[in-house]
Amino acid sequence: MGAKLISAVVAYFHAQQSVKRLTQEIGESLGFCLDAQTPPGSDCLFVDHLKNAYAMTRDESYDDEYWTRPEAYYVTGMPPEDYLAETCPYCLTTHKLIQERKEARKQFGIAKRRISALGRSLSKGSEAKS
Ligand SMILES: [Zn+2]
Repeated sequence: MGAKLISAVVAYFHAQQSVKRLTQEIGESLGFCLDAQTPPGSDCLFVDHLKNAYAMTRDESYDDEYWTRPEAYYVTGMPPEDYLAETCPYCLTTHKLIQERKEARKQFGIAKRRISALGRSLSKGSEAKS
């Protein structure tokens, strides 16, 4: 149990740190895009490249709810990474960091469940002793 517990706690900590770091990097990366779009002293409205990249639309003519869901398309007509590669290097980086954070959050979820499972079996063990 000892080694398992230690490795679960270490995995939990690393996953938590990854999510934290990626969240910070995403914030910084978003800032780079804003800075690039905003000349000093101006207050122009900026373009939200990520919002554009992720925007979906549906073909409503394809409307048979029992057999097929209406198909969704990207408004830009291309996958987010292609649109961003053409549009904004900072948002492309942000997009990649967001994908990494999704994976990190998944790992964090797995680590939390491991800790819970270990806690459950440890508490059963202590009940048995008392
Ligand atoms: Zn951008």
